Amino acid sequence: MRLPYKQSLLVSAITLFVAVACSKPAAEYRQSLFIFGTVVDLKLRGVSDQQAKEAVQVVERAFQRMHRDWHAWKPGELSALNRSFASDKPHPVTPFLLPLITQSQLLFEQSEGLFNPAIGKLIALWGFHSDELPSGPPPSPEAIAALVDLAPGMDDLEVSNGQVRSHNPAVALDFGGFAKGYALDIAIDLLHKQGVESAIVNAGGDLCVSGDHGGRPWRVGVRHPQGVGILAAVDALDGECLLTSGNYERYRKHDGVRYPHIIDPRDGLPVRHIASATVIDREGGRADAAATALTVAGPGDWYHVARRMRLKYVMLVDEAGTVYMNPAMARRVDFQDGAPERIIISDPL
Ligand code: AMP
Ligand code: MG
Repeated sequence: MRLPYKQSLLVSAITLFVAVACSKPAAEYRQSLFIFGTVVDLKLRGVSDQQAKEAVQVVERAFQRMHRDWHAWKPGELSALNRSFASDKPHPVTPFLLPLITQSQLLFEQSEGLFNPAIGKLIALWGFHSDELPSGPPPSPEAIAALVDLAPGMDDLEVSNGQVRSHNPAVALDFGGFAKGYALDIAIDLLHKQGVESAIVNAGGDLCVSGDHGGRPWRVGVRHPQGVGILAAVDALDGECLLTSGNYERYRKHDGVRYPHIIDPRDGLPVRHIASATVIDREGGRADAAATALTVAGPGDWYHVARRMRLKYVMLVDEAGTVYMNPAMARRVDFQDGAPERIIISDPL
């Protein structure tokens, strides 16, 4: 059937409009996932809703596998590997887990052992291998010393031909200080592979960004050390990640004393002097490991560790609320609710 000229023009116009509307990227696609015991917010720009939805599904599947196979105490690949360390025999490791081990070995070395995912037994001894916050008296000094004396470290692991063995039976891997940042790197990579250029993946204030936010940088917040709200805002540039190690997040409480979840591998005791450490880096995994190491290093040593790790942007907040930053970080942060009372700016890194 032939339509009259005017009608056929109208049909063509509608067809064109529908086609354009379908292919036109939505302004911003948002989705939240509940994973790693936290909410992960994703915002994707420049792609259609359908494309964005499919891309997020791929990321979600990867997150689920990470949650299972990188878990320090629930059944999965990592806990099977940890069990194998008792025997000093090589244990096969999949390419999904292996990079966590090899990258952590490097970061362990660069941080002079302050970032040490081999101290899983100490972390468990303090009660942090549980979904609940631990309570009751701290472990005995003898139990702590028994593990510290065996000095478990990432240098106890031998990696060859996709197999890993530990020469020290006191080693148990716990990637709690690294996995979230590394997961963010993978998420951004998966989004890129699916044609998403502009996105933010935000796991409770730990985040990586790609591209920009409608021609402007993504504006992100640095979590407040007391765990409520935002301490400062920062413009995150294409490819950057911002990770904060918060010592306020998880802790054991007994007789009014808090024992936070970040442990100094040198004495096996929870770190108390630092409330939070924030790092901006182009690799989420490195930023995560560095933030944990800087928390352990504390006000006296953070500068030395930051230099050794070749970090560019660092901020620490101690228990008294004093902020320590390098000048490049100081130029980027925009404090909310007024600047902190005491800010100490170091030499350039
Ligand atoms: P984060 O919030 O990134 O600092 O990670 C803290 C988590 O890392 C803890 O809950 C432990 O699972 C683990 N952890 C604690 N102390 C250390 C340490 N010195 N090095 C590496 N991982 C640690
Ligand atoms: Mg960390």
